[in-house]
Amino acid sequence: MIIEADEIIHEPRNCKPHVVLLGAGASRAAFPDGDAAGKALPVMNDLVDVIGLKLLLEQAGIESTGNFEVIYSRLKNRELKNKIENEIFDYFENLSLPSTATIYDQLLLSLREKDAIFTFNWDPFLFDAYSRNKDIASLPNIFFLHGNVRIGECKRCAEWGIRYGICPTCNKNFTDVPLLYPIEDKHYADSSPYIKASWESVKNWFTAAFTITIFGYGAPVSDVKAVELLKEAWLKKSSRKFEHIEVIDILCSEQLTARWKAFTPTFHSSHQDSFEKSRLCSWPRRSSEMLFSAMSQGSLCEGFPPPKTNNLAKLQNAIKKIAQLEDNSHQKI
Ligand SMILES: [Zn+2]
Repeated sequence: MIIEADEIIHEPRNCKPHVVLLGAGASRAAFPDGDAAGKALPVMNDLVDVIGLKLLLEQAGIESTGNFEVIYSRLKNRELKNKIENEIFDYFENLSLPSTATIYDQLLLSLREKDAIFTFNWDPFLFDAYSRNKDIASLPNIFFLHGNVRIGECKRCAEWGIRYGICPTCNKNFTDVPLLYPIEDKHYADSSPYIKASWESVKNWFTAAFTITIFGYGAPVSDVKAVELLKEAWLKKSSRKFEHIEVIDILCSEQLTARWKAFTPTFHSSHQDSFEKSRLCSWPRRSSEMLFSAMSQGSLCEGFPPPKTNNLAKLQNAIKKIAQLEDNSHQKI
């Protein structure tokens, strides 16, 4: 049975959360031509070249080729570490969001306030896209698991917000949330109260999630503990019977099946090589409803993706029409 799109658009339910996890591949996919000025988005394998750290490393006699994670773990000199950390912070801080509609605008507008996005990325694009869309429709909660160049926190009051903001509780300036550097034994909990709280949140959201989408996250070996924590929250602590996950990644299906098999004991996973083919894009703001009707009634729903456009206002208008139907929804799944 096929359900018409209108039926699902007009009947939003108070579904359990759709939770999205973003890795470096998501920012690469969202900004293939770099930021507004054409500055490239580095990933760990080309970070040294993209940011221009080669000379600094070579002057210190440190091999500069390969994965930044490995290179960073070899650094012992505190002064050099600080220099490199500052260079990285400056690079990401100065990236600017293009004025056109991006995948991050679409991603944020495709979810609701009952949903959440967790990102490992340092770049400012999720934060900046959130800022320019927050008055268009209710948006998902966003969390930065490795810190971010746009946010600050008050350690005393456990508040956070825009980097140079003021704590609403004690009126003191926020301090920077450190970018968490890739080292094997990550002391997430020790680095900042904000990061500690974000990791507590990710556990709770993964346990509560109706479905998850993993976008461009490579689950590197250095993140073994993090992936284990997510898996435990997703599987062991939850009472759901089926694990519907969607993976958006340019790797082939066999590789993705192998990578995420521990998350899908009931084999309910799908793989897409682009955001445009994902559930989020095809059923914006109703991805959980679509999945629910497929699971409970075996009914497939027609997709209703927003128009393919790089005009931000056009995208926002299309989403507003869907969002305005959400206010009176009290149905629960
Ligand atoms: Zn405070």
